[in-house]
Amino acid sequence: MADPRSTIQRHVAVVGGGITGLTAAWTLTEEARVAGVPLACTLIEESPAWGGKIRTRRVGDLVVEAGPDSFLSQKPWGLQLCDRLGLTPRIIHTNEFQKKTFVYSRGRLRELPEGLAVIVPTKIAPFMKSGIVSWPGVARMGLDLLLPRRHAGGDESLASFFTRRLGQEAFDRVVEPLMAGIYAGDGRQLSLRATFPRFLDLEREHGSLIRGMLRERAKTQTGAKTAAGSHTMFVTLKGGLCELVDTLVTRLETAGVRLRAGIRVDSLRVRSKGPARWAYELSLDDGASLAVDAVVLATPTFVTAGLVRGVSPEAAELLGMIPYATTATISLAYEADHVARWVQGFGFVVPRVEQRALLAATWTSSKWPDRAAPQHTLVRCYLGGVGREQVITGDDASLIRLAREELRAIAGLTAEPWYGEVNRWDRGMPQYTVGHVARLEEVTRQLSRFTGLYVAGAGYRGIGIPDCIRDGSEAAKAAFRAVMETGQAA
Ligand SMILES: Cc1cc2nc3c(=O)[nH]c(=O)nc-3n(C[C@H](O)[C@H](O)[C@H](O)COP(=O)(O)OP(=O)(O)OC[C@H]3O[C@@H](n4cnc5c(N)ncnc54)[C@H](O)[C@@H]3O)c2cc1C
Repeated sequence: MADPRSTIQRHVAVVGGGITGLTAAWTLTEEARVAGVPLACTLIEESPAWGGKIRTRRVGDLVVEAGPDSFLSQKPWGLQLCDRLGLTPRIIHTNEFQKKTFVYSRGRLRELPEGLAVIVPTKIAPFMKSGIVSWPGVARMGLDLLLPRRHAGGDESLASFFTRRLGQEAFDRVVEPLMAGIYAGDGRQLSLRATFPRFLDLEREHGSLIRGMLRERAKTQTGAKTAAGSHTMFVTLKGGLCELVDTLVTRLETAGVRLRAGIRVDSLRVRSKGPARWAYELSLDDGASLAVDAVVLATPTFVTAGLVRGVSPEAAELLGMIPYATTATISLAYEADHVARWVQGFGFVVPRVEQRALLAATWTSSKWPDRAAPQHTLVRCYLGGVGREQVITGDDASLIRLAREELRAIAGLTAEPWYGEVNRWDRGMPQYTVGHVARLEEVTRQLSRFTGLYVAGAGYRGIGIPDCIRDGSEAAKAAFRAVMETGQAA
């Protein structure tokens, strides 16, 4: 371990200025501050703007999120970061008096009943009444209590697991829109182990999802406090998620991080400095290069694959196999009194079996306070996803038309919006397909011999903002340890 009082300044580069890279850079400065060592840090982002998928725009009284609009409070890393950045007073919660979600199933919108703990019904009567699944379909769900657990190891798709436990209809009409929908993915391809491992554990431990959920629920009701404390399941920030990005950027500036936006990293080279010691060189698209002691690649995996190809072709090959879905969000604003009668709850999801263009819609200004003035209603529609990319190839005007047609057909909403905005996310959503965890283990193994080289971000261990925060922070801590242990500048 290097002497912490050493004046040698180590240099770490972080590539990618999304939430993962911003968190990584901030964690590096915090680690150095706490350890009392000098550390140079450079954060490089291809786009002129920071935040990656997080992009908030103010349009008059509207707060329009182009990408994510909130994050899960149950995964603690988002709230913890907000706390450390002094953003806790800015957290806002969903409107609990509007807390209803609908599923477009069997010809109309039906409310997801109470007692549906995540996706597993723990109260059977309200679920039967909802009509989302037919009576025989509900009876088939009940078989979960009797079916033996699966002993075979190996990964399994969401479709295979939930069809096996709860039946085809429950998978198609409840699991698929709620779970595969998060990834804009295809449940027949998504890995259970990589996306929702908790359900695998429930089956292993309790032999049944319903029994497992009931027991877990009883445990939390008898006192165990969740990480989310008094927060609603999803939270966001008063002025939009850009507050998180802006605050991080300000903190990084104050800490002396070299912030290089509008610069792309074109390649990465590694040079041996002795046994198990490496130096890295980044080539930038402005012709310059940057020599550093460690690097965190917080870029989408298809970019990371290209960057590590010269270092580890095996890791590059595996990273290049991670598919991404292309989606679009369409934000529409209406006069509130023109749409009030159709706007109920938080919004709705549309199962793939319904064969509609729309994946889901959120009544944004009902779900959240401060997203529009009271006289306005802000709505967000989701289009695209795996196998449905064709839907979003048209121009913006045609996507707005399509979103409006879908809102009319599904929710009865015919009014004319006074504002419409389309945001496209080309290869925006990584897909954790069956075998993802094993492939990732191999990537980690391949890269582990390059002390000082780390990969992090949405393509690896969780696509949600809290997961990205945790991943960026852990990569930064590993990079910091590496430079402290090798203790020499490049
Ligand atoms: C439409 C949409 C809605 C979502 N909704 C939610 C939600 O409500 N809640 C939630 O928790 N999550 C949501 N997500 C997921 C979440 O937003 C993302 O997974 C997360 O923001 C990704 O962060 P990241 O930093 O890992 O990657 P990114 O945000 O993709 O950042 C990577 C950065 O790397 C940069 N880069 C790429 N190549 C280079 C290069 N060669 N050199 C330098 N820089 C480069 C890119 O420009 C980009 O800024 C949503 C995602 C999308 C697309």
